[in-house]
Amino acid sequence: MNWNTSRIGTIYLPARLKEKMIQHTRECLPYETCGLLSGTTNRVSSIWKLESEIKHRYRYFVSKDTVDKTMKDIQSKQEQVLAIYHSHPTAPPVPSKEDILHHPEPHICMLIVSLQAKSTTWKGYTIAHGHYYHRPIVIV
Ligand SMILES: [Zn+2]
Repeated sequence: MNWNTSRIGTIYLPARLKEKMIQHTRECLPYETCGLLSGTTNRVSSIWKLESEIKHRYRYFVSKDTVDKTMKDIQSKQEQVLAIYHSHPTAPPVPSKEDILHHPEPHICMLIVSLQAKSTTWKGYTIAHGHYYHRPIVIV
């Protein structure tokens, strides 16, 4: 597969999907949760809420079977995974060592929603070579 540089650029996220994502992270409090954002090129068109199979305040786990099933659904819509989101119920929106270690691919954006403060904050990252870099996400 050719490295497609357009896939490491800005991600365009419709406001209603951003709201759904934040709602999902709030519903799961006090525990961490996660999900996928898929679409075509760099524009998100679907959200896939995943259920963490462990209830933990700063860790989440989703089995390979669940991920594979969701990936099939995404492919059947001719979409690609653009971002993986997860929540930080009590920490700022900064990738942890574990987050960096377990991130599957550099072109997939890591999006972290922090519920630490009264107002929700969230940030996008590119993870590569054990480091994280800011990834622009534009709400459309
Ligand atoms: Zn994390």
